[in-house]
Amino acid sequence: MSFRALLTEKAEDGTVSSAVQILEDARLPEGDVTVDIEWAGLNYKDGLCLTGQGGLVRTYPHVAGVDFAGTVRESDDSRYRVGDKVVLTGWRVGEAYWGGYSERARVKADWLVPLPNGLSARDAMIMGTAGLTAMLAINRLEWAGLSPSKGDVLVTGAAGGVGSISVALLRRLGYSVTALSGRPQHADMLRDLGAANIINRNEFMEQPDKPLESARFAAAIDCVGGAVLGKLLRQIAYGGSVASLGNAAGIKLDTNVLPFLLRGVNLLGIDSVMQPFDARTEAWARLADLFDFAAYAGNVEEVGLDALPEKAAQILSGAIKGRVLINPK
Ligand code: NDP
Repeated sequence: MSFRALLTEKAEDGTVSSAVQILEDARLPEGDVTVDIEWAGLNYKDGLCLTGQGGLVRTYPHVAGVDFAGTVRESDDSRYRVGDKVVLTGWRVGEAYWGGYSERARVKADWLVPLPNGLSARDAMIMGTAGLTAMLAINRLEWAGLSPSKGDVLVTGAAGGVGSISVALLRRLGYSVTALSGRPQHADMLRDLGAANIINRNEFMEQPDKPLESARFAAAIDCVGGAVLGKLLRQIAYGGSVASLGNAAGIKLDTNVLPFLLRGVNLLGIDSVMQPFDARTEAWARLADLFDFAAYAGNVEEVGLDALPEKAAQILSGAIKGRVLINPK
């Protein structure tokens, strides 16, 4: 049996490129469960893997795609039967292991999560790693004491995947959300998703730096890191928390200790890749319950495998709005 996959290869001169190829089942890696993929997602990390950046892919040829959803085709594991609907995010699938930009994948059963009731494979990929990470960030902020009465929550990188889903989920939970974005053209989208206020990233960064600035936010979900994270930490109110989950603006953190010492601010790290099964199923169930797919529909773009090289360049330059879904057929 053969299937279509986007194969990413590295030439002798180091150039990384991807093209759709027809592969035989014998090319699938070892694993307990074979999945017919219905939808995959596009994430910032996929952009890195498809362009050979970030040192994430070590072995070529490679199939990228850090998340996918579909139907079990074959299973050697008692937890999954043929026909079961499943979703996979993280576990370094699509980086160290072959991923979702393919009609078929073979993976470890431990990496799979049964699709929550009521969620289609397409719904699951509208969420994907982005939605799971947004949910984990909110869960963590609430665990640290956040509630709607505490005040405004800032979301950075708001027009991207994790950011836009965070805005929608927070609003659904009754929070007042401020969205920080570098793209004023997406202000209407952010308002529609539930942002009460929108801050222009350039204007935010141009304000004079002080060791502590006016306490404007009860909490923040930060998708970008770098100088933006350094600055927003100084604007978090007493006892507030920041969920740090992304590095679209860089990995360096230049700040000072006063927000921690004088305001008791918490900096909380969020990782979606190695989350244990129970935390994943809990987060997926809450996502399925909370997320308003109809309200988000205008922020979803569908493409085929062929379009992925172009989309990879776009996500790395911060030009993707919302979520891109990949239909491998
Ligand atoms: P997207 O590209 O969809 O969103 C990133 C957003 O960041 C952009 O839309 C843009 O938002 C903003 N941005 C881009 N470049 C810059 C820049 N130079 N300076 C400031 N802001 C910038 O990516 P994802 O939503 O998929 O991922 C967001 C981040 O989260 C990435 O760094 C990713 O690696 C990370 N991530 C981490 C996970 C984890 O487990 N910790 C899981 C998933 C993602 P706008 O135009 O609104 O300003």
